[in-house]
Amino acid sequence: MLKRRASLAIIVLLLVFSILHLGFSPAEIERQVVGTSMLGGWAFLLMSCSIFLSTRLRFLEPFFGGLDRMYQVHKFCGIFAMLLILAHFFLIPKELPEGIDPIANALVPSAPLGMLSMILLILALAITLNRKIPYHRWRNPHKLMGLVYLLGTGHFITAPAVFFERFSPSGIMLIIAAVIGTLSLLYSLFGMNRKTAKRYVIEKVNALERATELVLNPLEQPLEFRPGQFAFVEVQGKGWREPHPFTISSAPADEKLRFTLKVLGDWTRKVREEIETGAEVLVRGPYGCFDTSKARSKQVWFAGGIGVTPFLSMVRAMQPDDVREVTLVYAVREKDEALFLDELLAKAAEMTNFRLVLLQSNEGEFARVDKMKENLSEPLSEYGYFLCGPKPMINGLTRDMRKAGVSRDAIHTEAFEFR
Ligand SMILES: Cc1cc2nc3c(=O)[nH]c(=O)nc-3n(C[C@H](O)[C@H](O)[C@H](O)COP(=O)(O)OP(=O)(O)OC[C@H]3O[C@@H](n4cnc5c(N)ncnc54)[C@H](O)[C@@H]3O)c2cc1C
Repeated sequence: MLKRRASLAIIVLLLVFSILHLGFSPAEIERQVVGTSMLGGWAFLLMSCSIFLSTRLRFLEPFFGGLDRMYQVHKFCGIFAMLLILAHFFLIPKELPEGIDPIANALVPSAPLGMLSMILLILALAITLNRKIPYHRWRNPHKLMGLVYLLGTGHFITAPAVFFERFSPSGIMLIIAAVIGTLSLLYSLFGMNRKTAKRYVIEKVNALERATELVLNPLEQPLEFRPGQFAFVEVQGKGWREPHPFTISSAPADEKLRFTLKVLGDWTRKVREEIETGAEVLVRGPYGCFDTSKARSKQVWFAGGIGVTPFLSMVRAMQPDDVREVTLVYAVREKDEALFLDELLAKAAEMTNFRLVLLQSNEGEFARVDKMKENLSEPLSEYGYFLCGPKPMINGLTRDMRKAGVSRDAIHTEAFEFR
C-alpha cells in the first residue's frame, strides 16, 4: 500500500511554496501573473520531486512503502507537472507588462526555453505512458525528461523579473529545488548509483520449467538483505548492460545469492540461452518493503506463478521455532510449473508452523477468496496477507478480501512492475 505521508510531504511543499509566493509578491505585479507563475512553480517543484525519486535512494523507500510505490509517485508527479505546465502556458499574459523593454526582453531566452521544454515534455510523456513500447526501447527516450527539466530550469532562471522574482522566498525555494533536481539527474544519468553495487560471479545457471535460476558467488562483502527484498541485476559485458530487477530467492544467511527468473522477454530469454558461468554481475540493492517479520503472527502468503520468489527466500530463512504460523498458497497453471515444489513440500513436512496449499488452475482450482477460506481454520480477518503475482490477480484478490472483511492494513502486496 502506498504510504500517504510521502505524498502528503509533497502537498505540504506545494502549500509552503504557494503561501510564500502569494504572501511575498510585490503589490504592483498583476494578480494574473502571480497566479500563473505559481502554476509554473508548482510544475517545477513536482518535476524536481519526480527526478529526485528516480535516484532510487534507499533511505526514501520506507516513506513510500517500497520502490515500486516511489515510482508510482514519480510518474504522477510527472503527469501533474505536465498539466500544470499547459495551464501555465495558456494562462500567462503574452504581452509584456509596462516598464519592460521589449528589446532587452527579446535577448533573454526564457520564452523559447519554456516552449521547447513544454513540447519535449509532451513528447516524452506520450512515450513514457505508452505501455506498448517495450522496456528496452522505452528507457532511453524516457531520459529526455532530464533535458526537459534542464530547459525548464533555464526558463524560470531567465524569466523577466516581473514574471518571476528570483530572490523572493518562493524564488529561493525553486532555486534550491533546481540544485537538488540537477544533482539528482546527474546522479541517475551518469550511473553514480552503480557505486552502491556489489560484485558477484555466476557460479551456476540452472534451467527450470519455463524459468532459470542464477546462483551467484560474492567477489567482495556480500549483499545484506531481508527475505522478500529485490535487487537490480546487471550482467557485465557487451549487450548485457541494462539492469533488471529480480527478487532474491535465497535466504540472507546463505553463502550464495540466488535469483529465479521467468523467461518472459528478450533479456530473460538471453539469460537462459546465452549466459555462461564465470560472467561478472553487479547487484544493486537491496530494495523493497515486502516484509513479513512485523505483521500478525498468523499469515497467508499468496504466490501467483513466478510471484513465489519472495516467499522462497522467506521459507528458506524460516526456522521451526518461528513464532509465525504460515500458509503458503501457491497458484500455478499445472503442477510441473510449480518451482522448487519438492523443497517446499519438504519444508512443510519438517515444520509444524508452515503449510503449503498448491492450487492448479488446470484442475479447476483458482486463486479466489472462497478457496482460501476452505484452507484456513480461522476467520479471514485473523490473518495478515502477503500477495505477490500478476497484477490482475493481486487486485482481484485484494478487492474480494476487503469485501470479506479483511482490513486494508492486513494486506501487503508486491507487484513485479514499475511502469
Ligand atoms: C520489484 C520487482 C521484482 C521482480 N522480481 C522478479 C523475480 O523474482 N523473478 C522474475 O522472473 N521476474 C521478476 N520481476 C520481473 C522482471 O524484472 C522482468 O520480468 C524482466 O525484467 C523482464 O525482462 P525481459 O526483457 O525479459 O522482458 P520484457 O518483455 O522486455 O519485459 C517484461 C516486463 O518487465 C518489465 N521490464 C523489462 N525490463 C525491465 C527493467 N530493466 N526494469 C524494470 N522493469 C523491466 C517490462 O516493463 C514488462 O512489464 C520483478 C520485477 C520487479 C519490478
